[in-house]
Amino acid sequence: MLEKKMNSLSIWGFEVLLKYTGATHFISTRMGGVSMPPYDFLNLGFHVGDTPEAVLRNRGILASTLSISLDRFTFAEQIHGAGVKVVTEEQRGSGVTEHQTSLYATDAMVTDVPDICLIVLLGDCVPVIFFDPIKNVVGVAHAGWRGTVRSVIRNTVMVFQERFGSSPSDLVAGIGPSIGPCCYEVGPEVLAQVENTFSGKNGCVDNETPDGKGYLNLWQANKAQLMEMGVLESNIELSGICTCCNHDNFFSRRYQGGETGRFGAGICLKTSKIGVP
Ligand SMILES: [Zn+2]
Repeated sequence: MLEKKMNSLSIWGFEVLLKYTGATHFISTRMGGVSMPPYDFLNLGFHVGDTPEAVLRNRGILASTLSISLDRFTFAEQIHGAGVKVVTEEQRGSGVTEHQTSLYATDAMVTDVPDICLIVLLGDCVPVIFFDPIKNVVGVAHAGWRGTVRSVIRNTVMVFQERFGSSPSDLVAGIGPSIGPCCYEVGPEVLAQVENTFSGKNGCVDNETPDGKGYLNLWQANKAQLMEMGVLESNIELSGICTCCNHDNFFSRRYQGGETGRFGAGICLKTSKIGVP
């Protein structure tokens, strides 16, 4: 991933996606906003206990930094499920000014409508950003351990295929900053579900202990789902950034003991189609 300083913000992007001009994507950090601890500073989530005024200001700062109008930001409720929504023109702007209007029970969004900026919010969970440069379709998914074992990434690729005729081998995907295998100790009940989903642990669990604990590698688990669906390894970029280790830059629920803010991962199809001047 590459970091770019823009105004007071630090914006990250995937090299596999930056080479295409048809879509703009970003991952924000916690720097540059107005929220007070424990949401300092650029908290984008209304649902975490921060003041709504601060969240709205932060969203405005991000929108103007990215030169995307705030009413194009579109948010999902995010329930750690595997529900994927195809976002229509009428849904543009969902959840921008309050959490209640976020797209109901949704953890991944896909659209072929230009100028809808699909955003998921993160504080240790994995963001995955998708682009099909052939069909001109974008998507974004939120995958914590629950979403991962419920196969939210598989479902998202299926929506690209079934609703937009995408070929998985054309999809480009970035797996963003989240809690890494270095810091994500989980119990046997979580590992049992991982094993179920992958018919084995599939290289997703490190350093298991006799009491059944282990370190879950959500990056590997989500990369495996992408590849199993036919996405090419050369089209997948893994940020490899652990939010818990890098808690100065990213919000981490685990590092902060639960209460903290959320950063964002988003993608927006540009108005002019690729190849059209
Ligand atoms: Zn770590």
